[in-house]
Amino acid sequence: MPEHLLLDSLNQQQRVALENIDAPVLVLAGAGSGKTQLVTYKYAYLYSSDKKKYGTIMAVTFNNKAAIEMKERITYLLSEDLNNTWIGTFYTLCNRILRQENNLIGLKGDYVIYDVDDQCRLIRHILNDMKIYEALYRGIASKINCFKSTLLSPDDLISSSNNFDFDEKLLKVYVRYQDEMKRSNALDFDDLIIYTINLFLQHPQVLQRYQEQLSYILVDEFQDTSFAQYHFLKLLGCAKRTILVAGDDDQSIYKMRGAENENVLNRFETDFPSTKIINLKQNYRSTENILRVSHSVISQNKCRTPKELWTNRGIGEKVCHYWFMTEEEEAKYVAKNIKDLYLKGSYSYDDIAILYRVNLQSRVIEEALKNERIPFKIIGSACFYQKKEIKDLVAYLKLIVNKDDNVSLRRIINQPPRGIGINTLIKVENEAKREGISLYKTIQQMTQSKGLTGAVKEKLNGLIISLEEISSHEINTLTDAIKLIGSYIGYIETLDECSLNNISELMYSHGKTPLDVFLDTVSLTTLNDDLVTRGYVSLTNLHNVKGLEFAVVFITGLEDGLLPYFKAIDTSEDLNEERRLFYMGMTRAKDILFMTGAKKRRLYAKFQDQEPSRFLKDIPKDCCFWVEKKAVPPSPTSKLQIDKTIPMELPYNTGCRVKHPKWGIGVIRDCYGEENDIKVTVNFPNVGIKRLALKYANLERI
Ligand code: ATP
Ligand code: MG
Repeated sequence: MPEHLLLDSLNQQQRVALENIDAPVLVLAGAGSGKTQLVTYKYAYLYSSDKKKYGTIMAVTFNNKAAIEMKERITYLLSEDLNNTWIGTFYTLCNRILRQENNLIGLKGDYVIYDVDDQCRLIRHILNDMKIYEALYRGIASKINCFKSTLLSPDDLISSSNNFDFDEKLLKVYVRYQDEMKRSNALDFDDLIIYTINLFLQHPQVLQRYQEQLSYILVDEFQDTSFAQYHFLKLLGCAKRTILVAGDDDQSIYKMRGAENENVLNRFETDFPSTKIINLKQNYRSTENILRVSHSVISQNKCRTPKELWTNRGIGEKVCHYWFMTEEEEAKYVAKNIKDLYLKGSYSYDDIAILYRVNLQSRVIEEALKNERIPFKIIGSACFYQKKEIKDLVAYLKLIVNKDDNVSLRRIINQPPRGIGINTLIKVENEAKREGISLYKTIQQMTQSKGLTGAVKEKLNGLIISLEEISSHEINTLTDAIKLIGSYIGYIETLDECSLNNISELMYSHGKTPLDVFLDTVSLTTLNDDLVTRGYVSLTNLHNVKGLEFAVVFITGLEDGLLPYFKAIDTSEDLNEERRLFYMGMTRAKDILFMTGAKKRRLYAKFQDQEPSRFLKDIPKDCCFWVEKKAVPPSPTSKLQIDKTIPMELPYNTGCRVKHPKWGIGVIRDCYGEENDIKVTVNFPNVGIKRLALKYANLERI
């Protein structure tokens, strides 16, 4: 697309941000106002305006899926294939730099990357070894990640122990974790950033080279950058100051992963003086009603940049809130409504998303969707690369590349079962700890010495010989490696048909990829990299829908304790973050937003009485359409009905067309209530949605 057409597709404020090349730009704007659009167009504009001057543009976004979409969009805009781009996440981009420069900072080139699952396995192992309650591993992983994303090493914590409120055990686990990572020649996600920062600080000439090479920096979702990520950007961007960052402080939702809203609110302007601040005011995504409701909620947060968004999409349908007696009724309602929307032909299934705060809420909804035969896909659940057979295979592949990878060795030592008992494993672990070497090297040494009995020695030796044999071959692609594992390790033949199909699928999609590239890709793929699939309703938790948009959105479980989540409301800042999460979820909706909740819900194995979410109080009554569904009382005549609320036959189904003497023709949206008190909700195209008592409404079925 020629430059002038790129500019014509943007509004005045977006154009100012795009054409401002020489000063740093901070786009601080609300949801759906075209920030991602601007970042994408600016890339295309810089690229096509002067390929030499802006040869290498770096664009950073929040996950691989968003990076792929951005690249596809730019390719489309430029009608040109882009090769070797610097479009990625902080992790993929830093990894690219480290793979290039590793020797300068004493990092072995064959380091492996530990994803969240590997990291948790390692922490569990450490807790177990230190006799600390193992179930705490997730919380500890999250705390360690927070330290790392704020650039706090164990030494920093020790030397300033007066200033930090941390417990000693946690610090010990952190120290041990870092040691184990080193011993395994492994880096976790935060390490990729930290090592790159260290590289730049220790080798200013390398930093300078990248500053020169990367002529413009574009960052989307800037509000969710951590302190470490910000530091990386600052180092790269401070020389030329050709940088644009786009974010919305109202959508900062990753405090638990170290995101610092401070980056967008103050830090950037301080570190990049004379920053041009751009506020985009037009929302292109949602109707007025959705904007009013979401704004009424988010405006309750203190310490935010006030923003008023406007839209020319019209007033739209009222936002609906439904309160049910049970979560089953809630789920049934959601499923039925989706079916109706689909049957009416208004929307296809992939226009619709059902959102919840925590994954365990999805079970009941899944049941209801299945009952209505609605195709759905859960985004962000165990993705393909998390399947057991794929994880096992990847552990073998990682070991082929890096024999010191202890987490992978622990994973496959008895996979397939080799009869290596717990006592042997403890012996190996203790020996490795004493010698300060990897498990693999320890096993190699132990199989040479007299410390083990004949049978055990043979089993361990068998594994080592197989891995050495595999490594002695020339391995280029993933297919080469899998074939060798098939020949030397009796693992693949132990798999069932479904697992074998998954391995075939992997070979089909990545077979020709070089092994090291494949390993980096798979390690850096996160759960929320799942794609929204065509033809399916998307089910996912609120955190996963950042940046996305759907015509129809259901936010379920709007109850105190779920949204806001009880584990995340210790401080007022926690509560603010929950509000931002709710806001972000609401602003995914383009046309219709439903919010639902239930009085009774099974949570963590017990039934709980729920209250509507406190956030609902902030919504002005007239902005929303409120319905409270009452339970249908059980009939005293039938024992069978005691536990079941069998709804009576209602005169109208959703979708029926009716005629009202004054408002004309309308479509039934809902019909509910008891025999003498039936209510209907009707959408009259010329008047809007009306809630009526059937006996006085004078409706005529047409
Ligand atoms: P979020 O805060 O949710 O990340 P955003 O600010 O990044 O939202 P975009 O996703 O870029 O917003 O844009 C929202 C919608 O508006 C998209 O469908 C996009 O195509 C459309 N859009 C953005 N800018 C324009 C424009 N100038 N003209 C028409 N449509 C636009
Ligand atoms: Mg966006």
